[in-house]
Amino acid sequence: MGGNEQKYVNKAFESNWVAPLGPNVDGFEADLQVFTGSKHVAVLSSGTAALHLALILLDVRPGDYVICQSFTFSASANPIAYCGAIPIFVDSEALTWNMDPNLLRKAIVSSIKNGKKPKAIIPVHLYGMPAQMDEILSIAEEYEIPVIEDAAEALGSRYKNKACGSFGTMGILSFNGNKIITTSGGGALTSDDPELIHKARFLATQARDPAPHYQHSHIGYNYRMSNVLAGIGRGQMEVLPDRVKKRRKINQFYRSILQDVDGITFLSEPDDRFFSNFWLTTILIDKEKTGFDREYLRKAFETDNIESRPLWKPMHLQPIFKDAPAYVSGVSEHLFNTGLCLPSGTNMTDSDLNRIQIVLHKLINS
Ligand SMILES: *Cc1c(COP(=O)(O)O)cnc(C)c1O
Repeated sequence: MGGNEQKYVNKAFESNWVAPLGPNVDGFEADLQVFTGSKHVAVLSSGTAALHLALILLDVRPGDYVICQSFTFSASANPIAYCGAIPIFVDSEALTWNMDPNLLRKAIVSSIKNGKKPKAIIPVHLYGMPAQMDEILSIAEEYEIPVIEDAAEALGSRYKNKACGSFGTMGILSFNGNKIITTSGGGALTSDDPELIHKARFLATQARDPAPHYQHSHIGYNYRMSNVLAGIGRGQMEVLPDRVKKRRKINQFYRSILQDVDGITFLSEPDDRFFSNFWLTTILIDKEKTGFDREYLRKAFETDNIESRPLWKPMHLQPIFKDAPAYVSGVSEHLFNTGLCLPSGTNMTDSDLNRIQIVLHKLINS
């Protein structure tokens, strides 16, 4: 926590706004609007809920196709299944590790040949690195398919000086416990279209028609964010710029140790259009050059009670999605086999960083 969260939470208690609406909800939405530059924002119970609503708002129905980046956390793809739709997975390109625009085009063309134009495209800014948005948006525009931008890991990241989460027809954010800022659990839907966000709020609060009694002409959801948790969010927004600075500093810390090691490469901003929040610092290990593989380093950390994790396992390799169509080049499978997420939490102390440095030095000097 940053410091002022408790103040906003106390306000909710003092004013008895302990409900999924109230001044903190409105305030948190206003803060996010300013920060992302999105014209409209609805805060919700999770990023997953935001994606689910985005698909419903685009009228995704059973049997429809939705294109999704394969290299991601399962929450990017699960809402497609909630709608009974079929995910079409698209592999990554090596530069940003995000959706490969060439494979995206291939997936769209094949789907149309099969008689069904995809209803939506879900690119992800994984680990905070912006995807190749110019290329992705221009293909989406060419085929007139809406983009839902999964910016769950990329709050504070920018592409061409515009905030991630503000490019698509809609964008989603997450404030889950592991993200760059947190409300313990929570998410948001962003859009420049007031009608979409208006409908999202309606669906997220059980879709009550305007009538004195309880009248429903749509299936509703209980997806709104609590005013108590939105209070945490308002406090967190005050420290977000500082959190981004810290994550980027941690990235620099690892580079200073590993930059010159032959066989270790970082996920890096390809050029100055890309600004990453470096939510997690991630590396690839080429065993031929280093003499050790990803698991060897992970276990060396583990022996010292330091947690690190392999990169996300691509969706096209997951048992739950084994029958889904996929357009793959092998890039994300290679990333999964050789990549590691290094400890990147902003609450790490100098002594934590020192312990990490000792493990790395031992390994690269042996
Ligand atoms: C965390 C995450 C989500 C889901 O957000 P929740 O708030 O945890 O539901 C979606 N996509 C990606 C890429 C994520 O990392």
